[in-house]
Amino acid sequence: MFSKLPIFCHTQRSFGRAIAELLGKGERHARQLYADWFRSGEISCNAEWIEPQAKELVQKILDRVDFSLPLLSALKEEGAAQKFLLKFSDGRESETVVIPMRSGTTLCVSSQVGCKMGCAFCETAKMGLIRSLTAGEIVAQVFYALHILKKPVRNLVFMGMGEPFDNFDQVAQAIKVLTDPAGMGFGPSRITVSTSGHVEGILRFMEEVDPAVNLAVSVNAPNDLVRKKLMPVNRRWDMAALKEALLRYTAHPRREIFAEYVLIKGINDSLEAADELAHYLEGLRVRVNLIPYNPQSRGVFQPPEEEGIDAFAQKLRDRGYQTYLRTAKGQRIMAACGQLGIAKLRSTS
Ligand code: SF4
Repeated sequence: MFSKLPIFCHTQRSFGRAIAELLGKGERHARQLYADWFRSGEISCNAEWIEPQAKELVQKILDRVDFSLPLLSALKEEGAAQKFLLKFSDGRESETVVIPMRSGTTLCVSSQVGCKMGCAFCETAKMGLIRSLTAGEIVAQVFYALHILKKPVRNLVFMGMGEPFDNFDQVAQAIKVLTDPAGMGFGPSRITVSTSGHVEGILRFMEEVDPAVNLAVSVNAPNDLVRKKLMPVNRRWDMAALKEALLRYTAHPRREIFAEYVLIKGINDSLEAADELAHYLEGLRVRVNLIPYNPQSRGVFQPPEEEGIDAFAQKLRDRGYQTYLRTAKGQRIMAACGQLGIAKLRSTS
């Protein structure tokens, strides 16, 4: 018995070549099957474009390909937001969130099961890192939302479970598959990768990933003292090292960053903190997303006061920064930022 070729980790070109290598022929038909599968979610050896004499070859190709999708193990809804859990062949589960927004439906995908970065305000951190997802498992989350749940996904954000740059190669390959015009064809500018401040990853992202793919960076603190307490990553790459990488990144004329800032009462939400943050961001092409902290199951932090949020945002705007307030859609189903990963323990087989 031969092992099957997993389709979700391939671009159309690499898939066509792999089939040609396996069968000694069939590249053209494999490419068309690939397009059918990723664009419509359906595939058949009776498709109109298949010449009668090629049906046998197409069947051979289909027999050699692994189209299997992870199983849906939970789906929760609240209002317009939905969170779904997919179970992979080893029993591990990842979480994906569908968020309706003014700009269209956004899908928040996971790059790992759990996370080792240990951010103090984050539910996923409590799981630790269980394992990284493969490119195919990342792509399968998007395929599932598009073709099984029939969601009109417009934007993709890597803001689910995991630090994407702790799984760089698989995330970069998933982006290649997702943006393949012959397949799902997401425009690179509709994808955002969010990092906790993994400097090595930012530098690789700059070199190796399409420059139109967006970068979001969780800053979350006005200075090293506060950031060290909230985000252990700051011990490896402090704010000066992060700033240096971001200056290099935004030196490219097509690149800007989103600075993410979770506002936590009494920790980082003062007007002095806003001033210090504004100073830190000087020189960067940046937009700021403020995210009021979401109460968690066993959280020690408090959400900021409503007036405090507005004053903080105004301070940044007065300093010339485009500043947005991200409302926590899906908060009650634990699907808002930093809340994935606790509702149901990940199982092992
Ligand atoms: S906020 Fe992101 S990087 Fe930090 S622990 Fe949570 S999932 Fe990991």
